[in-house]
Order: sequence, then structure tokens, then C-alpha cells
Amino acid sequence: MQTPINDMTDPLTLLKLYTEWGADEAIEETPQSRFGATGWGNLPETASRERLSAAPGQVPQPAPQATAKAQLPAQNATGNQPSPARLAADVATGSGPAPAAIVNAREAAKAATDLAALRAALEQFDGCALKKTATNLVFADGNPAADVMLIGEAPGADEDRQGKPFVGVSGQLLDRMMAAIGLDRTTFYITNVCFWRPPGNRKPTEAELAAQLPFVTRHIELVQPKVLVLVGGSSAQGLLGLNDGITRLRGRWFEYRSENLPAPIPTIPIFHPAYLLRQPGLKREAWRDLLKLQEHLSGPSK
Ligand code: URA
Repeated sequence: MQTPINDMTDPLTLLKLYTEWGADEAIEETPQSRFGATGWGNLPETASRERLSAAPGQVPQPAPQATAKAQLPAQNATGNQPSPARLAADVATGSGPAPAAIVNAREAAKAATDLAALRAALEQFDGCALKKTATNLVFADGNPAADVMLIGEAPGADEDRQGKPFVGVSGQLLDRMMAAIGLDRTTFYITNVCFWRPPGNRKPTEAELAAQLPFVTRHIELVQPKVLVLVGGSSAQGLLGLNDGITRLRGRWFEYRSENLPAPIPTIPIFHPAYLLRQPGLKREAWRDLLKLQEHLSGPSK
């Protein structure tokens, strides 16, 4: 039975309503570090003050977040955050500020000479705060010797519980999509650009993705697939270093390059299955993209 919305000031009514709407965690719009916090004492000054000082009947506004952004390099002139690829490239070329997490990630990832070592390096890595809230590292699944490597965005609750990528509802749809072109987890390998679940299933931030990018790059270098499939906008933008949305990028062939790859890897972005679950009308386009992938895999050079 649905909760009648007759008293929006009653906390219990609101709580019931949020639960019915699917909210399963209490989070805020901007990340806050609670590690080492004692009670409410560690709330940023501005946040606690603004929340407490909102006049009756006024909705308190979230405080400007200092902690998370302070670790980021300066924003660009338009106020947009630089992309993870941009952040990591700046570190590589020495042309931008080098957050310690990215430098450490690059060194740890570079030292890994096989997948087991890369996984162990991630287990040791402390440059991404998502690790502290996640239950498990979600490294990869499938066959690392396969020709096709899929890279999605970030683990959700099911993946976090099982420590495997794409095992929830959207993963099941992705498996069905791949099965439609004759592929399964013995013939593809699958991972994400983010190895730990962001709390409340929020999108990973640019800084979180940038800190993990050296591991993703090394992951690709170690697997050396014949084809890369970038599942969703975050993966496509982050790995191709482009700002276009997935609607523009999907179904087009790109070349993924990195210094330790002997040759560029043909790469195709596709819609994320979670997006297709919300926009089933786009399945027709997704199907076209899968046929392009299938055609490429059965092409003359294969
Ligand atoms: N969505 C992703 O992008 N990756 C997962 O592992 C699960 C859901």
C-alpha cells in the first residue's frame, strides 16, 4: 500500500515515502569524510551552521563542499572538472598538478606485470576513499584470454556483495545482449573504470576515476584484447578522453592507445544496460551497435 502524502512534516511519513521510492541509504548530495569523525563534531563548520540556521519553513541548502574538491587540481576556465583522462595525462606529462593518489596509482600499476599482481596492487592502494566504504574490491570476471574486453562504470550493491562486475539486474541484461551475438563470460572479459562501489550508487567523481585510471590502463595493457567495448558514458569518456555524451559516441569505432600497447585497440562504446532499462526505446540502437561488434569480430582479419 502506498503511503498517503498528507503530512510532509512528519519524519516517519517521509521515511516511509523515501523507502517506497527506493532510497536504501542515507547520503548527502556531496561526499563527506566521516572517517575519524566523532558524532557530528567533524561536520564542516559551514555545513553544520547552515543546516542549523535555516529559518523555520525554509529548506536548508547544502554547504559548499570543501573537503572533496580541495584534493582536486584547479578546475578549468569554464568551471568544468577536467576529465579523468585529462587529470591523469597532466600527471604523465608533468604539465599539471600531480595529486599524490594519481602518482602512487601510476607507480603501483606500472609495477604490476600480471593480473594477479594488478589485483594485489589495488588491494594495497589507499588513494581512493571508495575502498573504505565498499565491501569488496570488484576486479574482473570472465576470460582474460578472450578477444573482447568490456569496461563498464562502477559496481553496484550486488557487485559489491559478490566482488564481481555486472552480476545485478543490468549485468543480466548485458549478458543477454552479449549472448545475442554469441558471446558469454568464457568469450569476453569484463571489468569497470571504478573498482569499488560508490556509496548510494552515485556516479564516481572525476577525482575518484582519475586515481583509478592508471590501474584501468594497466589492466588493458595486461589483457591486450583484440577489441574493447566501453559500456556507458563514464567508461567511454574516461578512456577515450572525450567529453561527448554516450549518445554521440556509441556505435562508432575509435582506437584506444597507450604507451605499453604494441598497437592501438579497436574500441566501440555502447549504451550502458542500466540506461537501456530506463530507456527501452534505445534498445534498437544498442542492437545495431552489437551487430557492428559482431561483424568486426567475424571480419576478414579474425
Ligand atoms: N554497472 C556497471 O557499470 N558495472 C557493474 O559492475 C555493475 C553495474
